Amino acid sequence: RGRLYIVATPIGNLEDMSARALRTLAEVDVIGAEDTRHTRKLLTHFGIDKPLFALHDHNEKDKISDIAKSLDAGKNMALVSDAGTPLICDPGYAVVSELRQLGYDVTPIPGPSAVITALCAAGLPTDRFTFIGFLPAKAMAKQGVVEQWSPQMGTIVFYESTHRILDTLEVLSEILPNDAKVVLARELTKTFETFLSGSASEVLGYCQMDGNQTRGEFVVMISLPQAEVTDAEAERVLRILMKSMP
Ligand code: SAM
Repeated sequence: RGRLYIVATPIGNLEDMSARALRTLAEVDVIGAEDTRHTRKLLTHFGIDKPLFALHDHNEKDKISDIAKSLDAGKNMALVSDAGTPLICDPGYAVVSELRQLGYDVTPIPGPSAVITALCAAGLPTDRFTFIGFLPAKAMAKQGVVEQWSPQMGTIVFYESTHRILDTLEVLSEILPNDAKVVLARELTKTFETFLSGSASEVLGYCQMDGNQTRGEFVVMISLPQAEVTDAEAERVLRILMKSMP
């Protein structure tokens, strides 16, 4: 049986293509790509010529049995998306979950992903974080999601597009407490990479003042203030501590 490799590709900077990713793409028999034209350009840049087939949200489920057949025939395959790590807000989940259940080998070839790239340089807590993909587009649904966030989620991270970033920052500045910390990571690994930080209304203000700040691709990160310890909670902890004292 062949093996399926899940191969991460750059999120903007081609130097982030790993040596292992290149070798894997050069060695497999066929590559499933979210957008074959996009991936063709990437492969051509690196001098790789391989058969490609389209694997996107609309045909993913139908492709599973073809992929399984190719693997049964001993072919090695790779899956890539347009940018970053496949399956992270990108196609591939249905294929990987089904193949794993059927006992096929699926091997990750790690590399860039916007969520980790943003977090590691934002200066917000990283010991615990909750990644929520994209927020809903509609205002009411978006507000509903934001209202449910709690400090226990750690740093909250989501992806946002240029069309929605201002709307989203407006919702954040209406709903979040003023001492919540917001970091907006834009155009990561690219020429105009920018990190903006402050309260939600400060970050909204920067973006309203300078239209360039709303161009490109975004990762939004939020650290909510820790809830204050109530007297009752403090007493409970004190009682536990007292018990363990000699
Ligand atoms: N699979 C990708 C990954 O591993 O990060 C994410 C794909 S998702 C469809 C695309 C979203 O990721 C963009 O709308 C943006 O929010 C975020 N993103 C991708 N590249 C980025 C970059 N260079 N800078 C900031 N955000 C980026």
